[in-house]
Amino acid sequence: MIQVIRGSCALSANRCAIGVDLGGQSVKLAVVDDSGRIVVRRQAPIDASRSEPEIRSLILDEIAAIRREGRAVGFAPAAVGMVMPGYLDRERSRVLFAANLPTLNGTEFLGAVRTGLDLPAAFDADSNAAAYAEYRFGAGRGVDRLIVAVVGTGIGAGVIIEGQVLRIWSHIAGSLGHVIVDAGGPRCACGGTGCVEALASGPALERRAAEAARRHPQSRLAALAGQSGRLTGIEVGRALGENDPVALEIVRETGRWLGVGIASWCVVFRPTKVLIGGGVAAVGEPFLAAARETVAAIGQPSATRDVEIAPATLGPDAGTIGAAALATRIVTV
Ligand SMILES: [Zn+2]
Repeated sequence: MIQVIRGSCALSANRCAIGVDLGGQSVKLAVVDDSGRIVVRRQAPIDASRSEPEIRSLILDEIAAIRREGRAVGFAPAAVGMVMPGYLDRERSRVLFAANLPTLNGTEFLGAVRTGLDLPAAFDADSNAAAYAEYRFGAGRGVDRLIVAVVGTGIGAGVIIEGQVLRIWSHIAGSLGHVIVDAGGPRCACGGTGCVEALASGPALERRAAEAARRHPQSRLAALAGQSGRLTGIEVGRALGENDPVALEIVRETGRWLGVGIASWCVVFRPTKVLIGGGVAAVGEPFLAAARETVAAIGQPSATRDVEIAPATLGPDAGTIGAAALATRIVTV
C-alpha cells in the first residue's frame, strides 16, 4: 500500500529520508533530501563477529542518533532505507546469505529492525541502491536502460529499466558479477568457475600485480611492492600514474575481463549506459578504456554499438543516497 505522508519534514521545504548502508566493516548513515543531497552523515564501525541482536541494537541506536541530528538542523526524516550486500528473502525480512555479515545469515534481522523503528522502512541490496542513486542523481540520470556495477572486493551490479529496479529473482536482477567469462579461469568464491568477479575484481587485480612484480623485478610496481609489503589498487594506481608499463598491462588485462562481462550483460539487458564505480575503477582511466575496447571488439554489434561505458559519479555515497531515495518512494506518491 502506498502511504501518503506530507509535511513530515516540518522545518524543511524538502522531503528527506535516512539512508543506511550496512557493510561488513562499517555502517554509513545519511539524512538525504529529495534532491539527493546529504545534509547529515554518520559512520560507525561494525564488528562482524557480533551477534544479530547486538548488530541490530547498534543500527537502531545509530538511526535514532542521526534522526536527532537531522531534526537539529531542520530535517525530520519521513522514512528509513537500509541496504546491505547479500541475498534477502522476497519479503525482505530475512537475510538469506550475507558473506561479510555471517551472524545475520538465516535470521529475521530486517524484520526485527523494521519492528524497532517507528518510521516506514525499506530494505534492499546495496547494488540496487547504488544503481538507483546513479539513475536519480548521478551519471545515469534519466537513462532508460542502465547498469551500474561496483568493482571492488567483488563485483555487484544493479539494473534500472525505465526507472524501475529490475528484480528477476528474489529482489535483484541476478548476480551479474558471477556471469562466467572464462570456463578455464580461476575458481570463484561463489563456487562457479571463471566468473567476471574472479577475473576483474580487486583481488584479481592484486593477484595479477603480485605475479607481475615477481616477473619484472626492475619495474616500478616491484619497487612499490618492496616498499609497502603488498600491492593493492593504491600501489597499482600509483605505478600507473608514474607510467609504469607493467602496471598499465595488468590494469588493462583486468579491464579487458570486465569488458567480456559487460559484453555479456549487454546481450541480456540491452543497456544504453553502463556505469562503473568502486575501488578498481578508481585505479585509472586505462581500466575502463580496456573494457570499452573489448566490448567494441567482441560484443554483439547490435547489442553493444550504442552502449556508453562511463565512470559512476556518486562514489562511496551511492549506497546511502540510493537507500534514502528508495525509502522515499514508499512514503510518497
Ligand atoms: Zn562467481
